[in-house]
Amino acid sequence: MEVCCQLPVLPLDRPVPQHVLSRRGAISFSSSSALFGCPNPRQLSQRRGAISYDSSDQTALYIRMLANSEIEVSVSARNVRRLLSFQRYLRSSRFFRGITVSNSSNILDDDYNGQAKCMLEKVGNWNFDIFLFDRLTNGNSLVSLTFHLFNLHGLIEHFQLDTMKLRRFLVMVQEDYHSQNPYHNAVHAADVTQAMHCYLKEPKLSKSLTPWDILLSLIAAATHDLDHPGVNQPFLIKTNHYLATLYKNTSVLENHHWRSAVGLLRESGLFAHMSLENRQLMESQIGDLILATDISQQNEYLSMFRSHLDRGDLCLEDANHRHFILQMALKCADICNPCRTWELSKQWSEKVTEEFFHQGDIEKKYHLGVSPLCDRQTETIANIQIGFMTFLVEPLFAEWARFSNTRLSQTMLGHLGLNKASWKGAQREQSSGGGDADAAFGEMDSDILPQEPRLS
Ligand SMILES: [Zn+2]
Repeated sequence: MEVCCQLPVLPLDRPVPQHVLSRRGAISFSSSSALFGCPNPRQLSQRRGAISYDSSDQTALYIRMLANSEIEVSVSARNVRRLLSFQRYLRSSRFFRGITVSNSSNILDDDYNGQAKCMLEKVGNWNFDIFLFDRLTNGNSLVSLTFHLFNLHGLIEHFQLDTMKLRRFLVMVQEDYHSQNPYHNAVHAADVTQAMHCYLKEPKLSKSLTPWDILLSLIAAATHDLDHPGVNQPFLIKTNHYLATLYKNTSVLENHHWRSAVGLLRESGLFAHMSLENRQLMESQIGDLILATDISQQNEYLSMFRSHLDRGDLCLEDANHRHFILQMALKCADICNPCRTWELSKQWSEKVTEEFFHQGDIEKKYHLGVSPLCDRQTETIANIQIGFMTFLVEPLFAEWARFSNTRLSQTMLGHLGLNKASWKGAQREQSSGGGDADAAFGEMDSDILPQEPRLS
């Protein structure tokens, strides 16, 4: 983080002055900072860090230690807690209490077991079982899979990446996902990254893609739900969460995932050897990709996609058009669960419902009004899945198949049809109960509802 040598030191026990926040940048702090109040000079030299901030991002300050030491610190944990978000705080609080966080350095080598290695040889298969891969890699599916894909696509060589920095970046990404979330965790991110890889290989796209496009796509896929709190945007808004205020109730989570990804990219120094201009371009294009995953904006993206396909004017030699298609590809990757085999798809359905119902339980407990799809008393997995498939997944994948009419597209649509039929069967069996999931999807975005999926 080269900014540290250029910027003034600001003790962390003092609020950041308004004039400082009015510009973009970073503040460095040294070991003499009041935050760490450490008496031992030998240890002092080991403590340096930085806060980066953004003028539009005043409450989301990112703190990073440049060098850690193993000694105990006398820390004002409260000062830090205010500045950290979700996962970062949980980890730091363990640190402050002296509890060792599981050491991730054990995955800093290529020593996956043979079976996981074997699986990676088929990483481009649509049947890839990410749950099994996660077990075989001891919970490190996101790191292992993404590193492998960087290698496979020749990105390490092309961009002259330091493999240790790449590993470190990926470990930080994986750790910033909340493993306690039933659905929005690192395994979902790994699954989306694997799906993205499958789409990047599609002939229509692959022949036009540049290494830069592939790099951004894989990073965006791996980070697209970073630090997800396991609740949705309406929950954050009604509980007056600071992120809702910060991002003005618009794409709150997606903005947070993007800014978190940027924080980790900068901290890792993975692209420190690139020009500032390229790094800024990368950050902004990753943002465009991640922001496209906001499901409430699906109708806008879908209309644009449909118009391009109707006019037949997509020109993949044009970087802007390619970028748009990558946004659509990431959107597909993000909601492709119902297009996987039944065995995989069913597991995802159970996990996402568990997360919804958990939110509903909290809303009930605190009398916040239960959000659509979140009431375990009135909803069923089958109802939720059928609504999800009908109003969100089918329309998107029907257009994707118009764009890239390959065996993969047909396979995905085939699974989608079969899975929907299975859930309809389950729905009939449970016909005595069940809420109105269709109406709930309507509440999410009424613009999406009236459009019948076009499967041809
Ligand atoms: Zn996602």
